[in-house]
Parts: sequence; structure tokens; C-alpha cells
Amino acid sequence: MSPLVKKLQAHCLVCAICLPPACVQTHSEKVNRNRTLQRSSVRLHLPESIQHRRSEFETNISTATQKATAWFERSGLDLSADEVLIEDAHIFDNHQSGRAYLARHFGIKLQNVPLNFAGVVDGKTLMAVTPSLYQEIFENLYKNHIWTRSEYEKLLIHETAHAIHAKIARDRFGSEDAMGPRWFLEGLAVVCASQFLSPDTPQPRLSWNEIEDYIAKDSANQIPIPIYPVYGLMVRSLQERIATSWLIEHAGDINFTAIIKEAFFNHEE
Ligand SMILES: [Zn+2]
Repeated sequence: MSPLVKKLQAHCLVCAICLPPACVQTHSEKVNRNRTLQRSSVRLHLPESIQHRRSEFETNISTATQKATAWFERSGLDLSADEVLIEDAHIFDNHQSGRAYLARHFGIKLQNVPLNFAGVVDGKTLMAVTPSLYQEIFENLYKNHIWTRSEYEKLLIHETAHAIHAKIARDRFGSEDAMGPRWFLEGLAVVCASQFLSPDTPQPRLSWNEIEDYIAKDSANQIPIPIYPVYGLMVRSLQERIATSWLIEHAGDINFTAIIKEAFFNHEE
């Protein structure tokens, strides 16, 4: 089974927003600063029904890429090289065509593509549904969160965050496995995209015991749906005490849970 198929199948067990890159391993090396990732020149693949919205999608993707890049830079990450992040983007105007395309793209069975597929990035290829399809998925899954048009931009930022995170892992650690466990890489993308925040209700912060409990539950696929808001809460709670760049640089460590526990309590002293 290819890593991609494993990745997709693992995600199908829990999935909602997207199909992410993979999990766990190794170490670091610093790269040059102040060079930004190239953001334009995406090849857009649109079905006939939305061809007339080409410039809208180009703008959406370009804006999302800029915002995600800026977030990583603000978080203290050096993003090296003039590299195109997203070369191709496929937008789907119905669930069936999107899921069928994904099955072909990843070489997997249709039933292994989540019914609620909304977006995924694979290398430099972004695949996502239209805003109206995402609204359906969002309202169905996230009943405690109010849909606004900005959610679509957040979806694209989330996916682009995966592309940037994957690039950091490849450049510094030689493998996308260094993106860390699922809860971390998804939580990081949720936080980058400012998803699942309610302006009226300040988010609670989790204690270490609660974080650890969720880590264990996530390994056993036992976090109840919707899972992504929980992943976001886990990472936001860690960010209160640990720098985001430090978390990213240690996420591939085989003892990630133990070392973040130590860092979490060191902050307190
Ligand atoms: Zn994701």
C-alpha cells in the first residue's frame, strides 16, 4: 500500500475538511531568511459550469497562499526559495466528480474517499470543492459554527498551510513525515486559517491532562466528530506556552508528546 493510500485511508476514519499529508519522525537545520515563496501562476482546472468564475478562484487561491505564507513567517519560520507552492488547482462543482477525481488521482477506490471531502493538497496540486458545496459540508458538520463566506478562504488557507508545512518538513528534515502526528498537522492548519473561532465566545484553553487525553483518543480514532475544532483547540492551547516554530521543528520527533509535555510545564515555572 502506498503511503498516500495509507494516508487517505487513515484519514477516512475521521475526516471532514481535508485529506492531509502524513505522520511522525526526525531533525533540523536552519535555512536562509527573507525569501518568500512564489505565489502566482497556478494552473486552474475548472468544470464548464464555473469557467466564468476563473478570476474569482485565481484570486481566492492567490490570497490564501499569501495569507498562509505570512502566518508561517510571523510564526518565525524561514521559508526558503522562490518556489511555487501550488502549481495546479482543481475545483469541483459536485461531490461525485470531486470524489471520482480524487480516487483516480490517488489510485484508490471511490469508497475510500470521504463523503465530506472538501479540500486536499498533494504536493503542488490543490483539489477543492466550490464555495457552495463547502457551505453544505460545513453547515452539516459544524453545527456550532456559523457559516460566512470567509470560511471558503479559510479552507484554502488551511490547504495551503499543509503545502507550506510539508515543504518545511521536506526541506529541513527530508520527509513530510516530520510534519508530526495528525492532530498536530491538522491543528496547525486550522490555527493558520483561523478556523472555528467564535468572536463572541472566547475559546477555552486545555490543561496538559486534557491535551494528553485527546492525543491518546486521536491515536485510537476516538475523538468525536467534529474533530477539527478539537485539533485547533489542542494547538491553540499549546501555543499559549510553546512557540509555534518550536512545535513545528519538533513535531517529527518520535517522542513528540513527551517533549511538548516538558516544554508545556517548563513555561509554567
Ligand atoms: Zn487538513
